[in-house]
Amino acid sequence: MEALTRLSGLRDRDAMDRSLVEALGQLLAASRVAVHRVVGDSGDEHWLTGACLLAGLHTQPMDPSWMDMRELPLLASQPDWARCARQAVELVLPSGKATQQGLVVLFPLGSDTGTVGVVEVCTDTSPSEELLAMANGVLSVFRNINSLLDYSESDTLTGLLNRKSFDETFYKASALPLSQLHADTERRQPGPLRYWLGVIDIDHFKLVNDHHGHLIGDEVLLLLARVMRQSFRFLDKLYRFGGEEFVVLMRCRGEEDAQQALERLRQNVANHVFPRVEHVTVSVGYTDVRIGDTPPAAVERADLAVYYAKHHGRNQVRSHAALVREGELADVAQTSDIEFF
Ligand code: GH3
Ligand code: MG
Ligand code: MG
Repeated sequence: MEALTRLSGLRDRDAMDRSLVEALGQLLAASRVAVHRVVGDSGDEHWLTGACLLAGLHTQPMDPSWMDMRELPLLASQPDWARCARQAVELVLPSGKATQQGLVVLFPLGSDTGTVGVVEVCTDTSPSEELLAMANGVLSVFRNINSLLDYSESDTLTGLLNRKSFDETFYKASALPLSQLHADTERRQPGPLRYWLGVIDIDHFKLVNDHHGHLIGDEVLLLLARVMRQSFRFLDKLYRFGGEEFVVLMRCRGEEDAQQALERLRQNVANHVFPRVEHVTVSVGYTDVRIGDTPPAAVERADLAVYYAKHHGRNQVRSHAALVREGELADVAQTSDIEFF
């Protein structure tokens, strides 16, 4: 009961996961409880382990903002987990390890937004029906709170993330510990992995509304969001900032990578045939997310690149840093959101 009260008061997903594994660990006297979620695009799905409680202690969770998807176990490598998640029923199995006695209980972890996963509970004794029912009760509360969070973070028209949810993710992206940067440079890939922010603005959208009406305009926004989902990778965060302005927060290894990803979107939009309207184009500006950056400062840099694109023919992708290098734009200080009186 105490665990449920704590769970229902939380608004932070990581803290909710930790609370969930603690509650189930206590209830089922478990030696290990872990949350595993399916991540990745259809056909290339992997398991990402979130909160994990081992002998009563939390293990260090993997940080999804900085992991390399290719290093995660494939969906098929855990057929029991996959079966549990797919069938959405709990499974009680003998522990797979010869050295280990006891059972593994798997609970499905679905959500309204279609993300799926399992909670894996290792216990020595078979839990009673009553305990299993209580565990399922805890999970229902968890799912309901998650749905509310999903709802509060999404844009109602397009289903992308809304602006309200941007800042928190942004601050995680700009607070990258330097050690991480060094670790990444030692890998084979060129350049450190870091976040890039792209602002996407529809060209002459007012004309779309004027010629076809607001409803058709809304449909264009909806379809554009779909093209965005198809153009970016699973871990990229896509937002509608309001109106006809969209934002992507993505991990890339350098300016060239970021340019390529956004260029792919620009082309996909230009090639898409929208009902009635037929063709729309977008102007895109982007910038790297710097350590200690703020959302208004980074968005302003990307916006400046969008304005530049708008004034130089639209339907193009422009890098803020490149424009500064070329002397077309002056660099703005990171603290540009602070006003001095
Ligand atoms: P530019 O190429 O310079 O970006 O021109 P634009 O017409 O796209 O830009 P402007 O900022 O002048 O107009 C944006 C228009 O977007 C005006 C407004 O009516 C429309 N708009 C904003 N939000 C919505 C919405 O939610 N639905 C629809 N249908 N239209 C919207
Ligand atoms: Mg606009
Ligand atoms: Mg526009």
